[in-house]
Amino acid sequence: MGLIALEGMQFYAYHGVYEEEQIIGNHFVVDVYIETLYDKAAMTDDLFNTINYELVYLICQAEMRKKYKLLEKLAVEIVNRLKQQFNNIHEVKVRITKKNPLPAARAAQAVIELEDDFLQKCPRCGRPFICYKDGSCWCHELRVHPKTRESIQQEFRGCLCRDCLSFYAG
Ligand SMILES: [Zn+2]
Ligand SMILES: [Zn+2]
Repeated sequence: MGLIALEGMQFYAYHGVYEEEQIIGNHFVVDVYIETLYDKAAMTDDLFNTINYELVYLICQAEMRKKYKLLEKLAVEIVNRLKQQFNNIHEVKVRITKKNPLPAARAAQAVIELEDDFLQKCPRCGRPFICYKDGSCWCHELRVHPKTRESIQQEFRGCLCRDCLSFYAG
């Protein structure tokens, strides 16, 4: 396992519930921490992909350019995009800092943090693997017959590791 962090990404953006925040904007700082799974026994080479700092930055930049009322929603969208881009995220933490959040008061910054963990234990073989728990999971790329997928879901109640799922793939 290894930690990849990109700290102190600075943006000028227009997130906030108040109209003036969406017009005047504010300074924001974004920090992203990604813990990856490097376990070769659990991850085959083609599933392994390196987290690229530039891509992490571009994903944050693209979301920061939009307008979100809630920083929590912004953080969720950044995590979703990271999951779509990288398939070996074990743990992710996104911290968003808004500078001078109260125009009429002296407060240096408001901070929100979102953390998620995607490490699972394969219910068939017991080995650790990554499951994103939604449509962005790598398991949807494997060609498994829908009926087979259904019976796997019934028998194991969740995702299997790549080796086990490949056993059922046609
Ligand atoms: Zn397995
Ligand atoms: Zn899955």
